[in-house]
Formats: sequence, C-alpha cells, structure tokens
Amino acid sequence: MSFNDFNFNTHISGAIQRCGYTAPTPIQKQSMASILERRDLLGLAQTGTGKTAAFVLPTVQHLMETAGKQVRVLIVAPTRELAEQINEFTKKIIQDTRLRSIAIYGGVSKQMQVAKIRNGVDIVVACPGRLLDILNDKEINLSHVETLILDEADHMFDKGFLPDIRRILRQLPKERQSLVFSATMPSEIRHLAEDILRNPVTVQINHTRSVKNITHQVYSIAQGQKTELLVHLLKLEHIETTLVFTRTKYKAKNLALKLAQSGFKATSLQGNLSQNKRQQALDGFKDGTFNILVATDIAARGIDVSGISHVINYDMPDTAEAYIHRTGRTGRASCTGEALTFATVEDGRMIRTIEQSLDGKMNRQAVDPAVLATRHAEPEARSGERKRIPASNKPKATANSQRPRNRSTASGVFGFSGRSKA
Ligand code: AMP
Repeated sequence: MSFNDFNFNTHISGAIQRCGYTAPTPIQKQSMASILERRDLLGLAQTGTGKTAAFVLPTVQHLMETAGKQVRVLIVAPTRELAEQINEFTKKIIQDTRLRSIAIYGGVSKQMQVAKIRNGVDIVVACPGRLLDILNDKEINLSHVETLILDEADHMFDKGFLPDIRRILRQLPKERQSLVFSATMPSEIRHLAEDILRNPVTVQINHTRSVKNITHQVYSIAQGQKTELLVHLLKLEHIETTLVFTRTKYKAKNLALKLAQSGFKATSLQGNLSQNKRQQALDGFKDGTFNILVATDIAARGIDVSGISHVINYDMPDTAEAYIHRTGRTGRASCTGEALTFATVEDGRMIRTIEQSLDGKMNRQAVDPAVLATRHAEPEARSGERKRIPASNKPKATANSQRPRNRSTASGVFGFSGRSKA
C-alpha cells in the first residue's frame, strides 16, 4: 500500500513528500481510509508509530474538501510538548492553505492565544486545563467542531484529566467524528471511549509492545554509582543523542548540571522549568546544541526528536508501560536504538515485569562498582558544586578531570577510556 491509495489532494501529497515519507506506517495504512470515510476510530498505538500523521493527514483533507465554521477540529493532548509537536506537524501540512492552527496550553501568555482565536482558527491543539480556562472566559466556541481527536488518552487519565475531558466534551456538538488514541486501555479509558465513539473502527499497533528495533540492556548498579556508570557510558563511541530519565525533577536538573560540568553538552527538561525554558531545552536538543537531555517522565510521552540513539533509564520507571513509552523515544520510524536501564537490587521485580511486557529477557550487562568508584567521584553527593557551574553548557573539562572522593578496590568490567565524545 502506498500514500497514493488514499487519493490525497496535491497539497497534502506535496506535504507528505516534504516530510520525506515514502510509504505509510502500519497505523497509517490501517486507519487513514476509515478516517477519510469519517468513521470514528479507536487507535491503540504508542508514540513512534506515526499516529500523528495518521490522524492529521485525513483530517486536513476533510477540512480542505468541505466548508465549515471555525473551530472545526479539536485535538486534545496531555502535555504541552505533545500539543506543540502536533501543532508544528499540522502547520507543516497546512502551510500555503487558508487553514489556521493553534496550540493552546498553560505556562505561556493566555492573551496571545485568545488574540489568535479571535482572528480565527480552524484547528485547535489543546491541553485540557488552558482550554477549559479559555472556555470559561467564553473566548472560544467549540459548538462547530466536526472532528475531535484525543491523543494519548491513557496519559490523560494518568494525569487526572478525565473530568476536564468530560467538561470539554459537553461543549462539543453530538454530530461529529471522534478519534481516540491510546497506548494502553485501562478500564477508565475503555469507558471514556465507549461514551465518545460511535460504532468505531479499532486499530491496534504493537499494543504495549516495545518498538521492535530497540535493543534492551540492563546494568545492575548501586544507587550511589549510577552517575559514574552514566558518565562512562556517555563517553563510549557509539553513544550519540541520548535521552536520560530520572525519577525526580531535582535529580534531572542536578544530573544535567553535573554532566555539563563534566564536559558533556547536556541540559534538562523537567516540570520546574518555565514553559519557555522547557521549549529552549527541547529545541536545543533537537538542533544539536545539546546531545544529552536529562528528563523526567514529562519527556517520555509524545516527544518526537529524530535520531535519538540511546534512552538511558538512570532511574527505573514505575511501570512497564512507562518503560515502553520512555524507550519508544529511540528506534523511531525506521531507525534503530538502544535502551539502557540502571537497576538497583530493589528494581528486580520491575525488571521481571518489563521483561514480561517485552516478551523476552533484557541483556544483562555486568558492572563492577569498585572500578567505577575508584575512577570517578559521585557527583550527586557533591551538591555544593552546583554553584560553580557556568551558565553556559559549553564543554569545559573531560569527565576524567574530576577527582574521586571515595576510593575502593579497582577490578572488574568497566574501565574508562579517557576519550570524551562531548
Ligand atoms: P508519531 O508516532 O506520530 O510521533 O511519529 C513518529 C515519527 O515517525 C515522527 O518523526 C514522524 O515524522 C515519523 N513518521 C510518521 N509517518 C511516517 C512515514 N510514513 N514514514 C516515515 N516516517 C514517518
């Protein structure tokens, strides 16, 4: 099957070419014809499968073929980054048309968003909170919406957005097309989908399965030596663009600063940053200013940065599904990727759960903590150093220039090459 089979108009075909897509992905093959027929659809697919194009391309085709009153399409996403990303993709598709699209989310000026809405928009990509805010101000009218798309519905549930979603639904006309996308199907989402969708087509792609072209490694490591292992791994030749996940915002910030201090082009993406700073971090990661992004789980969903070679779980995710989402940031489209997970003794049970979900064992990698402790200090213990880190994240020193605090016996598998990629 090719994109030609969908009879997209020349404008959309041109946009597909501009994106460099040569053939539809499985979710696109299985869902776009039904979406073009204006059927409701339940898409069980995780990010990385090409689901954004699967719902945007046919939806834009419909908008271009028919007349209607603004706002005609509402796309609801759980995170600002995902909303921004969907909007960016949509703008690429509708460029040179008369259609207009806007992203609406908190943390940035509401006035600017309201001004754009007043000027007229056809497509709104929104996070629930700010959308309700603007609805309460009566600055947006959703009574003409023809297509509703809920993306990452399970994540909306995780974030406690379902009551907000139901409030938003009450503002929409009953006659509409509805598409719900979710990586998993907890009972709450099943109920929501049953309420929203009418006689839907169901499409399931790799449901809660990891992307196939990712290899999974697990390193058994003591909590206090994770940073040293990370520094070592980041210096290996083949580690390029890397997304590192920590459990807490503080740790993400602190670890990124430590890595920057050690000469790596690292920054952090976590919820304590202002929206502008979050966008700066993401843009810097996308344009190569930084090749290491240390993030909390807000980056696990939806974020689409091409060419991430490695995902490193510095801290174990809380669920197997979170693992699939985090590691799905690599191996996207047709690229390969590696997922490296640091596991302390307490994480054994979660490793087994993840392996069940992967339908296979993760590759065990041996680490000798003694070697790590001998060659490197444990940066997290040296919190005072944060004050000395320059504002610029430019490489200043190699990791090996740090003096170790704790010394213990050196032996085992990992040594340090002293060669830095940063
Ligand atoms: P998504 O699951 O929508 O976040 O998309 C994941 C990645 O796949 C994005 O980088 C898309 O640009 C890319 N992509 C989507 N559709 C295709 C396609 N047909 N061919 C190649 N790449 C695609």
